[in-house]
Amino acid sequence: MSQRLAILHVAAEIYPLVKTGGLADVVAALPVAQAAAGDDVRIVLPGYPQVLDAVQRQRTVVEIGACFGALRVRLVSARLPGSALPCYVIDSPWLYRRPGGPYQAPDGEAWGDNVQRFGLLGWVAAHLAAGDADPSWSPQVLHAHDWHAALACTYLDHRASTGRASVYTVHNLAYQGLFPMQDAGLLGLPANLMSPAGLEYHGQLSFMKAGLKFADRITTVSPSYAREIATHEFGAGLDGVIRARADDVSGILNGIDTAVWNPATDPAIATRYDAERLQGKADCRAALQREMDLADDAQAMLVTVVSRLTSQKGMDLVLAALPELVARGVQFAVQGAGDAALETAFRIAAQAHPGRVAVEVGYDEARAHRLIAGADAIAVPSRFEPCGLTQMYGLRYGTLPIVRRVGGLADTVVDASPQALAGGTATGFQFEAATPAAFAAAVDAARALRRDAAAWRTVMHRAMAQDFAWAVPTREYRALYERALGAAPR
Ligand code: ADP
Repeated sequence: MSQRLAILHVAAEIYPLVKTGGLADVVAALPVAQAAAGDDVRIVLPGYPQVLDAVQRQRTVVEIGACFGALRVRLVSARLPGSALPCYVIDSPWLYRRPGGPYQAPDGEAWGDNVQRFGLLGWVAAHLAAGDADPSWSPQVLHAHDWHAALACTYLDHRASTGRASVYTVHNLAYQGLFPMQDAGLLGLPANLMSPAGLEYHGQLSFMKAGLKFADRITTVSPSYAREIATHEFGAGLDGVIRARADDVSGILNGIDTAVWNPATDPAIATRYDAERLQGKADCRAALQREMDLADDAQAMLVTVVSRLTSQKGMDLVLAALPELVARGVQFAVQGAGDAALETAFRIAAQAHPGRVAVEVGYDEARAHRLIAGADAIAVPSRFEPCGLTQMYGLRYGTLPIVRRVGGLADTVVDASPQALAGGTATGFQFEAATPAAFAAAVDAARALRRDAAAWRTVMHRAMAQDFAWAVPTREYRALYERALGAAPR
């Protein structure tokens, strides 16, 4: 039995309090799974109103005073609602207590003071990790998530040797936290760091580089994405930095919250079901067609999309392939938000195909459950995909994923090729080229299989039996932490 580890997660989102993507799901689930496995785990979060108003048993740990442009900064310890996991919240009304998103104002513009807002997050996290923010607790491992938390690795590295290990997880390399170089003075870091060998990226200040250069270990959220980001095609300009750290980069596939995403207990769906009671899924399908004003058509293959509407997610491929697929009888039920042009294009597609294409622009957790439960297939045609969660939800709900063979999608879905069907390993459909024709061909392959009800049911059963619980990644992170701490041979 290995020794209990003290772990501090640093993140800017946590489901269900603040969420813009899969990062929030991971930050909600991984620490809880680690605590359940016996480790001593805490999280530090910015004090957005959604966080400070929700956490329980608040106690001031330290009055930090004026810093990062704020007159008053206070570190609070508390418990997360639901899990009761211990957390630290940085209470700085000037920087965090405002309406709008975690990164953007209600008008969609990035907050003008994000350098200070996330500089402070990293700075406080490094002080906690170094043991001089909370006299009663300090971690052995600091685990920072995405650019918002990346500076924690740099601040920690620039203190006297602390004996702590830092791990930086890239959830999406495309969002890098770039700022004008003149903002660097706000961070209180040595000036010599502001060079290409440090945090400079083509004349700008890069928070992403703060993690990539200074963390002891770097992870991404799938093995394929870990390989891809070292290439020019997927490296978003940082592949050289990543290749230079090749020995320290690895991929650990995300789990999913199997309690929240469970068709046998899901309170949001019309009828609960499991692999042995699939009539419930048929009920969910009929209820979804009614809810979304889709034609009551048992033959039509009903494909859902639950996604940010961005080019990363390949939403333009769906739009381009949609008319011909609808002509072949496919129904689409789409829920998403994101680029204004894509939102408009999907609305127009729904108007053009009443009863065949239904579109809800916006974010709605409960409806996401109903869409994934009710559809026959879920399309995830991403241009790149660090891990992707919705294809795993689809598998668990027997809603077969149609995915591009990239990143975590390639790692979680087994294409229903003749060999995989014969060998009993198929769980969905993959396509290679990021083109509407390749996507349409994959949808056609799904339609063809669905015409053979028994074969489809076999693949559904296999999909529903996949294990994406957090137990596996939790063990992998544990092994990585031990390597980073030098407690195990490299
Ligand atoms: P990303 O983090 O790149 O957006 P992921 O697949 O990793 O993609 O995670 C997306 C998460 O957000 C999933 O939990 C998905 O169900 C959810 N989601 C995305 N768009 C919506 C939406 N419009 N309504 C409800 N949930 C959504």
